[in-house]
Amino acid sequence: MSEIPKDHPRYASLLTREKIVEGVEIGITSQQGLVAQGRGECFDYLTGEQTTASAFLAEKVSVAMLLLAERPVLSVNGNAAALVPDSLVKLSDVTGAPLEVNLFHRTEERVNRIIDHLKDNGASEVLGSKADARLELQHSRGIVDSEGIYNADVVLVPLEDGDRCQALVDMGKSVITIDLNPLSRTSRTATVTIVDNVVRAVDNMIDLSSELKGLDEAELRKIVNDYDNSRTLSDAVRQMIRKLEELSDT
Ligand code: ATP
Repeated sequence: MSEIPKDHPRYASLLTREKIVEGVEIGITSQQGLVAQGRGECFDYLTGEQTTASAFLAEKVSVAMLLLAERPVLSVNGNAAALVPDSLVKLSDVTGAPLEVNLFHRTEERVNRIIDHLKDNGASEVLGSKADARLELQHSRGIVDSEGIYNADVVLVPLEDGDRCQALVDMGKSVITIDLNPLSRTSRTATVTIVDNVVRAVDNMIDLSSELKGLDEAELRKIVNDYDNSRTLSDAVRQMIRKLEELSDT
C-alpha cells in the first residue's frame, strides 16, 4: 500500500481507496469494484464525508432488525471484504448473524480467497462456498447458501446491485443495504437504506449493537416500527442539495 501522510485533509478517503486497490491486487475485489468505489466516493463528497443523523437512525434500526431476526445473515462482496473485513467479523459476533460471501462477479477462487481473508481477520465460519441454492436471477448472481441467505429472514447487503436486492425483497426478506447513492435501484428497493460509507456504517453498527442489546424485544420492535425508509431517502437527497447550495454560494 502506498504511504499516505496522516495529515492529508482527505486521509480517510485516500486510505479507503488504497484498500480497494489492494483488494484487487490480492484477488478479492473485482475491477468493476473499483468503479463502484469511485461512484460511492462522489456521493460521499456530497454528504460531507460524515454520518448524517438520518443515516445514523437507519443504522440503529438495522441493528434492531438484526437482533430481532431469527435467521439474520451478513452478505459480503469483494468491496466490503477489502474495506471492512475485521469490522464485519465483529458485527457478525455481536449480532449473531453469520457471514456469507455472495459475489456479482463470482469465481470459486475468489469466493475462497474472501473466505480465507475473513478468517485471517478473525472469522471462525464463513458461508458461501457450498452454493446449493438459487435466487430468481440469471447467472452466478443468484447462487447462495441454503443455510444462509436463501433461508434468512433479515439480510444485510452492503454495496449491492439492484436486481439482487429486488430478488431478496421479492422472497419476503427484510433487506438492509449500505449504499452512498440514495438514487440507486438498491437504495430504492431495500427495506432499510443506510446512506453512509461502509467504513463508517459498520463500525457505528458495532457500537449500536452493544447499546441495543440492553433493550427488551418490545423496545427493539418499537424502534423498527417507528421507522420510515422513504424519509431516510428524501433526507439524504435533501442533505446533498443543501451541500451543493452551500458550495454554490461561496
Ligand atoms: P443499482 O443496480 O442498485 O442501481 P449500481 O449499478 O450502481 O446500482 P453497483 O455497481 O453494485 O450497483 O454499486 C454499488 C453501490 O455501492 C453504488 O451505488 C455505490 O455508490 C455504492 N458504494 C460504493 N462504494 C461504497 C462505500 N464505500 N460505501 C457505501 N456505498 C458505496
